[in-house]
Order: sequence, then C-alpha cells, then structure tokens
Amino acid sequence: MTTLPPEIRTEIPGPRSRELAGRLSRVESHNVTCLVPDPPIFWQRASGANVWDVDDNRFVDLGGGFGVANAGHAHPKIVRAVQEQAAELMHAMGDVHPPAVKVELLEALIARFPGGGRARAVLGSSGSDAVEAALKTAQLATGRSGVVAFEGGYHGLSLGALDATWRSDFREPFSARLPEATRFARYGDVEDVIRVADSATEPVGAVLVEPIQGRGGERVPPDGFLTELRALCDRRGWLLIADEVYTGFGRTGRWFACEHEGVVPDLLCVAKGLASGMPLSACVGREEVMAAWPPSQGEALHTQTFLGHPPSCAAGVACLEVLAEERLVEHAADVGAAALRFLEERTAGHAGVREVRGRGLMLGVECREPAHAHEAVAEALRKGVILLPSGDAGRVLSVTPPLPIELAALLAALEILIASLP
Ligand code: PMP
Repeated sequence: MTTLPPEIRTEIPGPRSRELAGRLSRVESHNVTCLVPDPPIFWQRASGANVWDVDDNRFVDLGGGFGVANAGHAHPKIVRAVQEQAAELMHAMGDVHPPAVKVELLEALIARFPGGGRARAVLGSSGSDAVEAALKTAQLATGRSGVVAFEGGYHGLSLGALDATWRSDFREPFSARLPEATRFARYGDVEDVIRVADSATEPVGAVLVEPIQGRGGERVPPDGFLTELRALCDRRGWLLIADEVYTGFGRTGRWFACEHEGVVPDLLCVAKGLASGMPLSACVGREEVMAAWPPSQGEALHTQTFLGHPPSCAAGVACLEVLAEERLVEHAADVGAAALRFLEERTAGHAGVREVRGRGLMLGVECREPAHAHEAVAEALRKGVILLPSGDAGRVLSVTPPLPIELAALLAALEILIASLP
C-alpha cells in the first residue's frame, strides 16, 4: 500500500461534498459536524495513508482518522478478518454467550500488557468506555472516588470520563450531572499532583494520565514524570491509570507510551489503534486490581450490548498481528524521529511556529496564533493533506498518520504542511 501523493481534481470541498453537507445539515443535530465557514470533505474510501473523497480527490492523511488507523486504513488482512467474521457471526451475547473470537482478542491483548505481568480486561467500544471502566475499577479497588487528572487532559465526553476531561467548555453545560470527583494538576508536575491531592475534598484513589497528551496538543511531559508518578502512587496507595487511547499500539514508537520509561500502570485504557478502524476498546488492569470486581453471578455489573462485538474483535486480533509482523512500532519510532528532525530544521526561524515536538508518529507543530493553525489546516486540505488542530484553542497542528507511511511520503506531506503556514 504505497502512499500516493495528493491529487486534487476539484475545488475543496468539491461539489459532491457540498451537496452532502446540504443534506446533512437537514438531518444531523447541528452540534455534531461543523459545516461553516466551509463544509468538510466527505470521505469515500481510504487505503494505507491515502483517503479519497466523494469528488475523487486524493489526500494524504496526516491525522490517521483521529489516530485510529495505526495499521493503515483498510489493511487487507484486517478487512479480510472483518469480512470473514461478519459472514460467520456478526453479533453474539458478549457477557452471556460470548463469541469465540472474544477469547482470542483478550489473550492477544493481555499478552501485550506492559511489564508482562498477569492482567485482565473489560472490553468496550469507545475510548470513553475504557475510561469509564477504569474509573469504576479504581472506585471498587480503593473505595475512593477522588481522581487527580491533568490540565490539558482529554479522556472522552461520556459523563464519568467528562468529569476528568480538562476543558471547561465541554464540561460546563453538563456540570449539574458531573460528580466533580476530579481535581486537575499541572501536566508534568508531580509536586502539583501532591498539592492538588492534599487539598481535595474527595479522598483520592487514582491518578489518570495520558503519557503524552493527544487532544491537549501532543504535549510530551518531562523525562521521568511517569516514573515519579508511579512512585508517588505506590507511596500513597493510589492507582495509576494510563490513558493510552491515543498513544497505544505503536503510535509513539513503543507498543505503549508508558514503556518509554518502563512504567507499569495499574490500569491501561486502550481504544483507537487497537483494531485500526473498528470500534473496540478495553480497560486492561493488573490482576490484583481487577479482582476488586465481584465475580459475575449471572448479570454483569458493567457491560454493554456490543461487548466483545465479533467483527471488532476479529479486527483487533488481525491488527495486533499486523503491527508485529510488519514491525510498525519500530517503523513509527524511526520515521517519527526523522520527521521530527525534519520539522525542527524546516521550521527553525519561522516566525509563526512556537515549537515542534512529539514522539514516534505523534508529532505536533505549535503555532503562535491559533488562527494560523486553522488557516494551515484549511490550506493543507486544499493541497491534499488532511490535518487536525489540537491543543489550546487549536493552535497545534497534530501529525498522527497511519504508522506504515513511508518517510518520503511523510516528508512530502510535511512540506505541504509547512507551505500552508501563513
Ligand atoms: N482518551 C484519550 C487520550 C483520547 O484521545 C480520546 C479520544 N480522542 C478518548 C479518551 C475518548 O475516546 P472516544 O472518543 O473513542 O470516546
């Protein structure tokens, strides 16, 4: 699946995208898809690191579909696994009469748990599901509902996860429904975690951290932060929850980002890259911690209709194999390091760029002005490169392509990114 260069045949967005946007505006709640000032492009198909829109324009996808397509869009082995599974068994009874493939997926997933210790998992469909399961586990295991999370952190928008998501614009409209069990510390600052925890009204049971912040703007904490956080949690009897929904499955050049420091979390939240395009997530925990859940006596205390969804589990099994067989984790580390050097060199002295940073294929270009980042996103799209803004007011251009992208294709797309900066 060699990455092809962009090929733009129409104005962006093209006529079919505009037509679909008009129809969408009449049927979807207007809080969902942003249609102004320009409508988005509507995707028709995708393969590897390329996306084609409904007007047959070809793009290079530097977003990886929100950092999901770690094995590449529509990897043939994963597509085949989904097709075969769907033809045989599309749905089962996840926690009652489960599909066989749920066992295979869990075995393959547990085998990747950092540190190699004994672990167990609860499956879900979204990243938020994984965070909800982790928060409930922490509550059961410690008897405490207080959580320390971090400024800039993003853990999802379902009510439990939302309570731990930093941005007040997401939280405020629903504040009456939020327990406010979370206190926020400065990201990368262990002393601040202690200060915040000691002044919390709710006794703290867990620290919830992204090893590298994703939606917060590809923020990499100082070296040693996770190690210190692990030690602090051990001293205080808190659980360390690593939210690796974004960073997991090779994104940062290791299977999990906490492995850069050899840190083993108590609970690990994963989603996105787990199945490289099918909705599947998990809260994986150390066996002793997961033992806090009461054994199911017939009705599971925490489950969902689509738990262990067969085609998603089949995709997950195939995806974990592809990541290993194609050495995509190592590839992400190598290509990412070269891309970071390239960005550093090419943006040095650029008046509009404050910083470039990241690890593996989770890179960010922070602009001085959020408006410049937004302009660059629109301009790059017109030139055939898909980018997302992240971070404070969207001032960071986030670069999280599918992991198989070749260095030359990535650097060519980054040239377009740089040329799109005002
Ligand atoms: N945690 C992190 C670190 C995330 O980046 C996201 C999604 N961007 C979530 C949780 C929530 O995942 P979802 O949108 O699938 O609920």
